[in-house]
Amino acid sequence: MKNKAFAYDDVLLKPQYSDIESRAEIDITTNLGNGLVLRCPILSSPMDTVTGTAMAIAMGNSGGAGIVHRYNTLDAQYNAIRHAADLRDTGSPLGAAIGVTGDYLDRAVAARNAGATFLCVDIAHGHHTLMKKAIHQLRDIIGDDMHIMAGNIATLEGINDLADWGADSVRCNIGGGSICSTRIQTGHGVPGLQTILDCAQTDRDVAIIADGGIKNAGDMAKAIAAGADAVMCGSLLAGTCEAPGEIYRDTDGSSWKSYRGMASKEAQTEWRGNYSSLEGVATRVPYQGKVKDILAELERGIRSSFSYSGARSLEEFQAKAEFIVQTSSGLSESHTHILTRQW
Ligand code: IMP
Repeated sequence: MKNKAFAYDDVLLKPQYSDIESRAEIDITTNLGNGLVLRCPILSSPMDTVTGTAMAIAMGNSGGAGIVHRYNTLDAQYNAIRHAADLRDTGSPLGAAIGVTGDYLDRAVAARNAGATFLCVDIAHGHHTLMKKAIHQLRDIIGDDMHIMAGNIATLEGINDLADWGADSVRCNIGGGSICSTRIQTGHGVPGLQTILDCAQTDRDVAIIADGGIKNAGDMAKAIAAGADAVMCGSLLAGTCEAPGEIYRDTDGSSWKSYRGMASKEAQTEWRGNYSSLEGVATRVPYQGKVKDILAELERGIRSSFSYSGARSLEEFQAKAEFIVQTSSGLSESHTHILTRQW
């Protein structure tokens, strides 16, 4: 057995001496390699309740990037990407997800023709022979110039192999997503922060995307401090008006939207007419208004975090970061706790 494997809530970043007088001095730009540069290190998940046309435009225009999901027909995905490419700010990134079987090569070509600027090979267990074949074939077809993101993996061996197969960036984390039941169904996975700490040991020229289980800006900061170049979010963005799907209103006045794992019974039944292994759930999240406001708040949190570490860039933040392990009492103390106090 290895030592302990840490989740985001297990640790804190130790505050450092800072000479930063304004958060405007901090640059949170991240370079994911092969032409994909983000002014803000946040990506939206390629899920059918997270990223369609509107989310992809808003994410790209806000400095992050959205990845248009693949859980529809090739034509529907092509149109979603094309509309986003018509309407987005010139030069902003636009991602498209593909799988590793069926029409995935046609989708890759269609996505590029529609205006996608990078591809995301999106499967649950990315450290897989089908991933190797898919990346090799993609490189043959689209060449070396287009950024390929791939995943998901949860180990150093996984990120090294995907990098060697031709991925520019890799989504890291198996089973940590808020709607994910993979670890319960299969017993497999590695806690989210540990995954990043392990993957950051890579000596390959590959960017790390911390994907799933990110609950707040503090988790984003911890992921980046551990070595991530960007974070990917589903639940944090699914409640916004740009996420696909209706806004529902309850009689008590509350508003919400649907959010579901792509391996949930509901999602599988809708996109392929049946279901096999169930490794996700469907739920609802509170309606949260415009994604740009959510991103602005998350970005303020990341900048504030850099400031507590006295860091002006991602590289400086990672170099200075010092994690400490907190106890369960420490975690309770970290949350606002006046509401649960016994007076
Ligand atoms: P969240 O940000 O914690 O809500 O997690 C979103 C991430 O969960 C996505 O980017 C995917 O990596 C992952 N994911 C999406 N659907 C499923 C599923 O059904 N099962 C397991 N993981 C999923």
